[in-house]
Amino acid sequence: MDFELSDEQQQFRGVVREFAEAEIAPNAQVWDRDHTFPVETVLAMGRLGLFGLVFPTEYGGASADFATYCVALEEIARVDSSMAITLEAGVSLGAAPFFYDGTEAQKQEYLVPMVAGEVLGAFGLTEADAGSDAGNTRTTANLDHSREKWTVNGQKTFITNSGTPITKCVTVTARTNSDTTGPPEISTIVIDSGTEGFTVMPAYRKMGWHASDTHELVFDNCEVPADHLLGEPGGGLKSFLRILDDGRIAIAALAVGVIQACLEQSVEHAKGRNAFGGPIGRYQSIAFKCSDMAVSLENARNLIYKAAWLRDKGRPIRRAAAMAKLYATEAAVRATSDAVQIFGGYGFMDDTPVSRYYRDAKILEIGEGTSEIQRLVLARDLGLPVE
Ligand SMILES: Cc1cc2nc3c(=O)[nH]c(=O)nc-3n(C[C@H](O)[C@H](O)[C@H](O)COP(=O)(O)OP(=O)(O)OC[C@H]3O[C@@H](n4cnc5c(N)ncnc54)[C@H](O)[C@@H]3O)c2cc1C
Repeated sequence: MDFELSDEQQQFRGVVREFAEAEIAPNAQVWDRDHTFPVETVLAMGRLGLFGLVFPTEYGGASADFATYCVALEEIARVDSSMAITLEAGVSLGAAPFFYDGTEAQKQEYLVPMVAGEVLGAFGLTEADAGSDAGNTRTTANLDHSREKWTVNGQKTFITNSGTPITKCVTVTARTNSDTTGPPEISTIVIDSGTEGFTVMPAYRKMGWHASDTHELVFDNCEVPADHLLGEPGGGLKSFLRILDDGRIAIAALAVGVIQACLEQSVEHAKGRNAFGGPIGRYQSIAFKCSDMAVSLENARNLIYKAAWLRDKGRPIRRAAAMAKLYATEAAVRATSDAVQIFGGYGFMDDTPVSRYYRDAKILEIGEGTSEIQRLVLARDLGLPVE
């Protein structure tokens, strides 16, 4: 058993940390305040190679292991969750569907520029009435064989990276069987940005992740060529579930970065802030919060690296990914709440980073499968007869 990251991975952590501290940290508060999606910084993350880490060199990637990608997400999330989710959604939700299911032509057209970090792809699974219950997709795509075109109708809700100036496309799940009496056949269709009949609604106003781009998407008789089917007809849901398993490890890594930041900032504040004639860190109520945060950080990190290791070995990851996501995201929400408490009134102020971390953390328990859905996955894995 080896619990050490390799020298190369540790060096890489240093490079990403330097970038995050120089290019992201000084701006994160202003981007958050102004709800700015910083295109130039996202392109700079691309030039650093962050969008291509886990993809093969033949597509311009680094052929790195999943743990290395987790390290990158941790380091970006340590300073700003909005930029970390932009990276995570760009890689795990935008590019991965093309890597797993794309034809060679689709890989060349979409995956290669995504790996280079020059464009972003978005992942359209959720709908107004199909979130946790993603199989309830109502969006339809009908193929007109004579014209060799799909016509897509419907809408998608809360889609990350879907309306940025560098968004190239969105992959959407849609019902593709005309027979509506049987079980739905759900397939994946690629819709390029700017296609007629595809409307990106104004950005949502959100509790957190203000610098991350999120929109509702509407498809009104939106026509795309027949070769915009991604993967097999009817394979959409199975393929998205596999993509979400990877994504859950990645979201857990993002949560680890948040806990790391909360721990560092809480300890520093607890040492420097005085009350009643000495540092507040001498009170157990403050010190023990930091101790518990350190334990949760260690546990969360071990769970994500174990899940990443299983994935790289080609072993089943559904349980490990669910455990990592469930534990790390709930620990991150707790850590941000404790950090705000340790900062007292300052923790409630916008210019104290932990107040942003607190608002940004809650979504981690919701996106890419809620905590309840992770518990459901785990209960089923235990053989329990849960619904
Ligand atoms: C900022 C943001 C970005 C997002 N980005 C994307 C994206 O890029 N692409 C995308 O497709 N989606 C995206 N989502 C959607 C996200 O994945 C869903 O919001 C999430 O899966 C939950 O679905 P829902 O909101 O419909 O909640 P619901 O499914 O309505 O759930 C509501 C509550 O009921 C609980 N619940 C539901 N079913 C069960 C059950 N069987 N057992 C127990 N409890 C249950 C849930 O856990 C939750 O607490 C994003 C969401 C947000 C907020």
